[in-house]
Amino acid sequence: MEYISTRGKVGKIGFIDAFMMGLADDGGLLVPSEIPQISAETLKAWQELSYQELVLEIFSYYTNNEIPEADLKAMVEASYSTFRDPEVTPVRRLHDGLYLLELFHGPTFAFKDIALQFMGQFYSYVAAKQGKKIHILGATSGDTGASAIEGVRGKDGIKICILHPNGKVSKVQELQMTTVKEDNVLNLSVEGNFDDCQRMIKELFADLDYKSSNHLAAINSINFVRIMAQTVYYFYAYFQVAKANGGDVGKVNFSVPTGNFGDIFAGYLAKRMGLPVGKLILATNENNILERFIQEGVYMPGDFRATYSPSMDIQVASNFERYLYYVLGEDAEGIERLMAQFKAEGEISISEDALRKVQSEFAAHGVLGQECLDTIADYQTKYGYLLDPHSACGIAAVQQCADEGEISISLATAHPAKFDEAIRLCGIEQSFPNEISSLFDKPQSQILVDGKLEDIVAQLDQFYNA
Ligand SMILES: *Cc1c(COP(=O)(O)O)cnc(C)c1O
Repeated sequence: MEYISTRGKVGKIGFIDAFMMGLADDGGLLVPSEIPQISAETLKAWQELSYQELVLEIFSYYTNNEIPEADLKAMVEASYSTFRDPEVTPVRRLHDGLYLLELFHGPTFAFKDIALQFMGQFYSYVAAKQGKKIHILGATSGDTGASAIEGVRGKDGIKICILHPNGKVSKVQELQMTTVKEDNVLNLSVEGNFDDCQRMIKELFADLDYKSSNHLAAINSINFVRIMAQTVYYFYAYFQVAKANGGDVGKVNFSVPTGNFGDIFAGYLAKRMGLPVGKLILATNENNILERFIQEGVYMPGDFRATYSPSMDIQVASNFERYLYYVLGEDAEGIERLMAQFKAEGEISISEDALRKVQSEFAAHGVLGQECLDTIADYQTKYGYLLDPHSACGIAAVQQCADEGEISISLATAHPAKFDEAIRLCGIEQSFPNEISSLFDKPQSQILVDGKLEDIVAQLDQFYNA
């Protein structure tokens, strides 16, 4: 298995090279040269595997035999040993036809840990194997930053700098990032919103001289390894629900709280690999550019809105290009033209035919603020289950998009303690896990910068040369 760019000018490259490249050098996104096909018998055999065993099986289709089995196994064991639940991603039944896939049992209480704990191990492995310096640079709407920092704190050969939008992440998210006291960690708090942070990071990665002379590496979901790691829990959850229903459930819907389109793209990939997925339900908030795409076939970022689910406050979804590539028939030249058009005109639209294809695979619902809070209150009252605002958007979207008699698995992407601001608005008082309550007493370290690229570059120079 090798890797190629959605824009056709990179490839084929190996697995470790794809991991280290992050964003493809031609500005596109790396995808596998072909999607592995998993047979029905293999799927059946996988039902009995532990989470870690399943990771190894699935990764083996993607790693191009570049990592000795024992090394990969050690990295996978280390990655998931930090999780608080022995199942890593347990599935809970909420009521008839609705299951919740809990993805928040990692060190920072959000689903990003599942991929980023592994990527931390993997960066460390490559740094040691190749004697390389690795400077991880990323933008975060809150959870990626905390999770990536947790994945590589104190690791030799690695420095990490994370940009977050000042004042636009939750208090707990900010504390998780800024209370880590390690020389290899730099937090930049940027005047602006997440899209500003992401745009600047993309500019730095697009400058190939800058990227190579500064050893830049990506943790954002532009990195294919993150997508690969996230496909695993779609399989795992499906198997748990199948077992709970006597072994065979046919197709199951997945509802995915969506921002950058990384997580739901992993679901799409799992489906293309052969997992019996019904609808992929895309849940968003008021930043509903992707909902509009699925309903109208027009992709056009609108005005940024701050919501109760800040990790989804994204207008330009960087993984969306991966999906476009597939839905438009893997036509790299076509993608290059479309993305150039998007850059020039700020919008793209697809044909009626392509839109029908999109709508045969996806449903979407943009959940408004009050609806999100009502869903949290409702599930607390009726089922005694406290949803975080992102997970609540997922559930609200199931209610909107799933049909009678279908089985849906809704992804719980964060623990409610991370978003107490919204939980309080529902009149609910929650008790925090110790790992979170102890953050409030720790000193914070971050540098406030305005939203100019030169200032970011100056901070990075200082950090890299320290
Ligand atoms: C990152 C995040 C999302 C969005 O995931 P994408 O892969 O960016 O679509 C949803 N919920 C939470 C809690 C997150 O941290």
